[in-house]
Amino acid sequence: MENLRIAVFPGSFDPITLGHESVIRRALPLFDKIIVAIGINADKRCMFPLQTRLAFIRELFKDEPKVEADSFSSLTVDYCRQNHIRFLLRGLRTAADFEFERIVGLSNKLLQPDLETVFLLTDNRYSFINSSVVRDILNHHGDPSAFVPPTVYKMMQDYMAQNRQKEK
Ligand code: ADP
Repeated sequence: MENLRIAVFPGSFDPITLGHESVIRRALPLFDKIIVAIGINADKRCMFPLQTRLAFIRELFKDEPKVEADSFSSLTVDYCRQNHIRFLLRGLRTAADFEFERIVGLSNKLLQPDLETVFLLTDNRYSFINSSVVRDILNHHGDPSAFVPPTVYKMMQDYMAQNRQKEK
């Protein structure tokens, strides 16, 4: 287990987008396993429930045995330590991302010196995409199909339709 190259890709994935998918697929040759791990943040209100967000990820990568989905409510470094994980995967879209990641990455290094953060530059086609834009579009009944993988788009539509049904 300790010798396997396992990376955690942490985030809220509310929902997972084409940008996230691209980073994960491009990182696959680097690792034996990638765990897409949803950090549970009690202060953050999410659009999609945790189990739904996990289901999006699992369905999207159902044919890719190297990708797993999980969730955690501890510090990311503690989740990594408990699961003997030595690599964190992050995507870099902008200079603002870099500044944020620099602070988080250096803090994590102080807390857990043997954990390395691996950054991939975003594919230019997806660098403007973020989950909050997708949520905005959905909140205003727009069409987010250019922002999320087709599988996730379909599952999101089903989820929204079920919710509308419940509200009736
Ligand atoms: P959170 O919502 O918790 O901030 P995000 O989903 O924004 O988490 O980010 C999780 C990771 O995915 C980060 O490393 C972020 O840089 C990366 N990421 C987010 N959107 C994109 C994108 N469009 N392209 C590439 N990487 C992305």
